[in-house]
Formats: sequence, structure tokens, C-alpha cells
Amino acid sequence: MHELSIVMSIIEIAESEINKAGGGIADEIELDIGTLSTIEMEAFDFAWNQGIRGSLLEDAKLHVNRIEGKAKCLDCELEFPIENYYDSCPVCGGHFNQILQGKELKVKTITIQSTVDG
Ligand SMILES: [Zn+2]
Repeated sequence: MHELSIVMSIIEIAESEINKAGGGIADEIELDIGTLSTIEMEAFDFAWNQGIRGSLLEDAKLHVNRIEGKAKCLDCELEFPIENYYDSCPVCGGHFNQILQGKELKVKTITIQSTVDG
């Protein structure tokens, strides 16, 4: 499953950030996932719940920011919302778009719970 490999790489990134910050476990993690990324959220949630088992993110609360797709028409320079890469411009019908946002797939913030001493 495509989503599981994405989840595993996010966990890897998050764990290395946690280790860089001096260790601990994640309390919360916030992700940016654009609507133009090829992620199916239901599959992602399922993969997430499997992937975090035994990781530093096992108890972390997951927040996902969905970033709406937005493009700029290269013919008339209109900026408009898109649901698919090849949506045409609503004004001039042009098919050449520059994608401005919506492709995001990244870890935005990680909140680390400091480990209890002793
Ligand atoms: Zn246009």
C-alpha cells in the first residue's frame, strides 16, 4: 500500500527530529497534506494506526492540515482553486497551470513529551 510507505517515511523523519531534539516521545504531530497529493485519507489513517505501533509516535495525537489545491493560469494569470492537476482555467479555458499549492506532504510540527526522570 502506497500510504503505508508514506506513513513510514513520515515516522522516520519525525523520529530523527525527536532524536535531534534530545529524545523523548511525540505528544502531537501536525502534518500538511495537500489535496493534490495522491494520498487517500482513509487509507492514510489506517496505515498511520499500524505504522506508529512501537514507534516514538505511538501515543501522539495526529493533526492533518488539508491544503486546498490552487493554481495559476499561465495564459491569463488567474489564480483559481483546483481539484485535479489538469483542471482548466475557469475564465479562459487554458490548460497550462502553475500549481501554487496543494502538493504538500510534510511534517509541520512535532510536540515532544519530555521523558519522566528516574
Ligand atoms: Zn486563464
